[in-house]
Amino acid sequence: MNTTTLAAGTTGRPTEQDWAAAVNAVRSGLRPGARVLLVCHVNPDGDALGSMLGFAQGLRKLGVTSLQCTFPGALSVPEPLHMPAMDLLIPEGAADPAPDLLVTFDAASESRLGALVDRLETATVSLVLDHHASNTGFGKVSLVDPCAAATSVVAAELLRRLDVPLDREMAECLYIALVTDTGSFKFDLTTPEVHELAARLVAAGIDVGAISRRIFDSRPFGAVRMFGEVMGRAQLEPESAGGRGLVYAVATLDDLAKHQQPPYVLEALIDSVRCVAEADVALLLKQVAPAEWAVSMRSKGGADVSRIAVELGGGGHRLAAGFTGHGTAEQIIDAVRGRLAAQF
Ligand code: 5GP
Ligand code: MN
Repeated sequence: MNTTTLAAGTTGRPTEQDWAAAVNAVRSGLRPGARVLLVCHVNPDGDALGSMLGFAQGLRKLGVTSLQCTFPGALSVPEPLHMPAMDLLIPEGAADPAPDLLVTFDAASESRLGALVDRLETATVSLVLDHHASNTGFGKVSLVDPCAAATSVVAAELLRRLDVPLDREMAECLYIALVTDTGSFKFDLTTPEVHELAARLVAAGIDVGAISRRIFDSRPFGAVRMFGEVMGRAQLEPESAGGRGLVYAVATLDDLAKHQQPPYVLEALIDSVRCVAEADVALLLKQVAPAEWAVSMRSKGGADVSRIAVELGGGGHRLAAGFTGHGTAEQIIDAVRGRLAAQF
């Protein structure tokens, strides 16, 4: 595959040449009649959806009329992540089989594109926008900045280079992406560049308080009670991770059923697990089928959880990563425990 920029495993930021290649890739999608398909990763989070829908609105401003946005799997977006431009979302089955331009968002590997992965071959031009250090270097043109706090930082910079003016709705999508991936501007990659972008987005007229309340500070009563029960069963292993400590919690389908909660409410639970002071590493297992678990991992700096996630078939960042685990909860915890021990 003719990859123009970062090779797998490099830590380099995009060069001016890389930005120019990305600008050219987008321009190929601006020709009259061009069909553009935007795809973000499966089970999209705020950054995946927000960077895609923010960028989509920018493309509309540039005159793109044939524009589809989608992601693999069922077309449902958790309520806290509802945002402008969701009318552009179409089911994956309706996605153009051979678009003129394909742009992917926040996907670190081809597997994150599910059944839409074939568009990397069928699209005339494919552009990958991402910020995962574990990005495998797919796509004809790839713009991956492992130092960017969110894919929306990359998307916003590309829009700026294309001279697209920000409006409120575009800014809301890009802000949701930024605020979710930085944990409300608290995580380590919260650089001056992040705050400068946030300032531009806020200046476009978004309602920061309302967005924060909707995304972070609002939860059904049943979810609050369920969180309490799951956290009540959490386990701390001070000797794990070479003595740096591991804390883990397990949320089952029974927990969801008992409290009549949809699975997405569990996305916020890792934040309660990771604040345990005695542990460098936090682990949350979210059951999605009898022997299948969505696993979230966080590190405070001692462990590289991205390495463990990649070894177990997933990906992510050094301090925040995940994978899909198969088997019993104890088997998965054991697998992580062993790989953690091997890091020290
Ligand atoms: P979270 O724990 O919040 O779901 O995800 C943390 C980070 O790990 C995100 O950057 C996310 O993209 C990545 N991640 C989570 N689950 C998976 C997975 O199953 N596969 C891959 N490749 N990355 C994942
Ligand atoms: Mn992201």
